[in-house]
Amino acid sequence: MKKLVSVIFILGLLFSPAISSSTAVPEAALQPPSSSQSRPAAPDNPFFKPYGTPFNVPPFDLIKNEHFLPAIEEGIRREQAEVDAIVANPEPPTFENTIAALDHTGIFLSEVNGVFGALQGANTNKELQALARKTAPMLAAHRDNIGLNEKLFRRVKAVYDRRASLKLDREQLFLLENTYRDFVRGGALLDEAQKARLRELNQELSLQSVKFGENVLAETNAYKLVIDNQADLAGLPGSVVDMAAETAKQFGLAGKWVFTIQVPSMTPFLQSSERRPLREQIHRAYFMKGDHDNELDNKEIAKKIADLRRQKAAILGYPSHAAFVLETNMAKTPERVNAFLKQLWEPTLVKAREEAAALKALIDRQGGGFKLASWDWWYYTEKLRQEKYALDDSALRPYFKLDNVRDGIFALCGKLYGLKFIAKPDLPRYHPEVQVFEVQEADGTHTGILYMDFHPRPSKRSGAWSGGFRRVWYEQGKRVPPISTITCNFTRPTADAPALLSTDEVETFFHEFGHSLATLFSQGRFRNRSVARDSVELPSQIMEHWAFEPELLAVYAKHYKTGETIPAALVEKLERSSLFNQGFITAEYLAACILDMAWHTLPNPAAVDARQFENQVMGGIGLIPEIVPRYRSTYFSHIFSGGYSAGYYAYIWSEVLDCDAYEAFKEKGIFDRATAASFRKNVLEPFGTDDIMAQYVRFRGAEPKIDGLLRKRGLEIKK
Ligand SMILES: [Zn+2]
Repeated sequence: MKKLVSVIFILGLLFSPAISSSTAVPEAALQPPSSSQSRPAAPDNPFFKPYGTPFNVPPFDLIKNEHFLPAIEEGIRREQAEVDAIVANPEPPTFENTIAALDHTGIFLSEVNGVFGALQGANTNKELQALARKTAPMLAAHRDNIGLNEKLFRRVKAVYDRRASLKLDREQLFLLENTYRDFVRGGALLDEAQKARLRELNQELSLQSVKFGENVLAETNAYKLVIDNQADLAGLPGSVVDMAAETAKQFGLAGKWVFTIQVPSMTPFLQSSERRPLREQIHRAYFMKGDHDNELDNKEIAKKIADLRRQKAAILGYPSHAAFVLETNMAKTPERVNAFLKQLWEPTLVKAREEAAALKALIDRQGGGFKLASWDWWYYTEKLRQEKYALDDSALRPYFKLDNVRDGIFALCGKLYGLKFIAKPDLPRYHPEVQVFEVQEADGTHTGILYMDFHPRPSKRSGAWSGGFRRVWYEQGKRVPPISTITCNFTRPTADAPALLSTDEVETFFHEFGHSLATLFSQGRFRNRSVARDSVELPSQIMEHWAFEPELLAVYAKHYKTGETIPAALVEKLERSSLFNQGFITAEYLAACILDMAWHTLPNPAAVDARQFENQVMGGIGLIPEIVPRYRSTYFSHIFSGGYSAGYYAYIWSEVLDCDAYEAFKEKGIFDRATAASFRKNVLEPFGTDDIMAQYVRFRGAEPKIDGLLRKRGLEIKK
């Protein structure tokens, strides 16, 4: 079905693993602070005492901004003390006293950071931003203090060198190899001068990344399209007008209509506004974010980050940051990623050109008398969609009430895995809009807790992502259940209607839910995981395949007023139009992937002009001017303030896996419990505790083929 490459940050920055690793899935681990350690005199700080909440969730009602800094400082102190104890152990190094012991350090800090990172992304304020600027370099230094600790590394290496004779099982060996590898990649083999330089680079990188993200948020909040003349609402459906009226109220502009450059506000405007100059204005505001040559400009910061990363890679012995990053991914090298992207780019560009020609023809038929521009694409695409398929977004939305979609996902998880979801309205939350659910297995066993936060706010970063306050781990053999989060920027309810989602938003919801399932199902004796970045979208993207399956739509897609199930004719139209506009969707995504790879293989980023460089890269692949890359450099948060540098291609790389994996369900029936059980057992539960390809083959019986992806995107080479 319709494929939007959903935006997701796997907490790249939010949670940092104990040692500097680019691949460990960095989620929050927690435990209430242990009572055995000294506590500072901070009787009111909720981080310093047992939470005393149901399921031990963070006591958001008690946590104040001022509690974070002392708790982070204490977390750093404790983790350092735990590491010092490992180093000081007079016993010779063993797997247990070194590798497993290291795996269990920093739990208190992860807990605090998990809460801090989640609020920073979803509910920030000036104070938290200032705190992030202060703590980012502190945490970077702390990670280096562990990663570059020579005595610690000597113990790790001593175990690693004897690994063949230690009779370790697969999980232990995987942890050992990754721990050793992460130390080496963190600089453990460097000389003192190089280590000192690496520390400086890490400090600077941590600061620049925070600044980049802050600028994007400020630039997103800085623009409003205020309409006070009803005639300028021409073409907009009633629901979109209502939404703009609500937004105006939020900004104290009751009686007017406001559109922002948040996707749920901007996209419906671009799709239906008849006022071409206004479409141009709002779209320009969107794609010029961070590129205004003002104090929020991100051009120099992007260059700086790319250059710092290049220097870091050089010290570590890699020709580029991309080469450094990709070493631990499935793809392994920039050459392989570039070849993969090129293979997809060529047929995509052909399709995108055909689509542009069709839009131009439509403009001419209507006597438009102007050239197609990027701000026209959505508008004429919707017109053409109606012409070809008699289908429009606003006719579908009534069937996608947010609560119904959520319950549809719950139902799917019930069918596949037997899960049950129990609303917990009384648990503490960080914002009144957040929904909290307990997740249970079919037999009532507690699986974990899920927080969901759906709508945009000026305090929230744009996009959608899944994270967590706590990852699963075992404390003396007892499972400590995970707490997962889903944060989105979906269409808000209005005075007259509940939140009615677009098909893109429905797909994004399924996507993020897939990440959460991986967190909730996660099993394994150790806390640290090493997930190849380019496989991380497998659990999320496979969920998208179910979103518009007629059998599942019949369960959840009910009209919000009448309760009527989505008519078969509408479902059929949705299916028939699944390849419509795929050239555009794939082209804008691939263009961003190629831009990411270009920045991170550039020999001297400091010497380029950021805007020119971007134009040159886009010109080099022949991107047509009517399409803007999905992210331009100045607001490409995934790569400059998230964990996706040299990794934005991960979505489409993972898509090879998820398309192939879904075939298994199609072969046996899309709700087949045995296939689901095998997927859970072989892929989701051990995700990050073993080689992903080995896991995949255990599920599928063979390595994945690319055919499913090409079919889904309409990119099969016609012979
Ligand atoms: Zn994702």
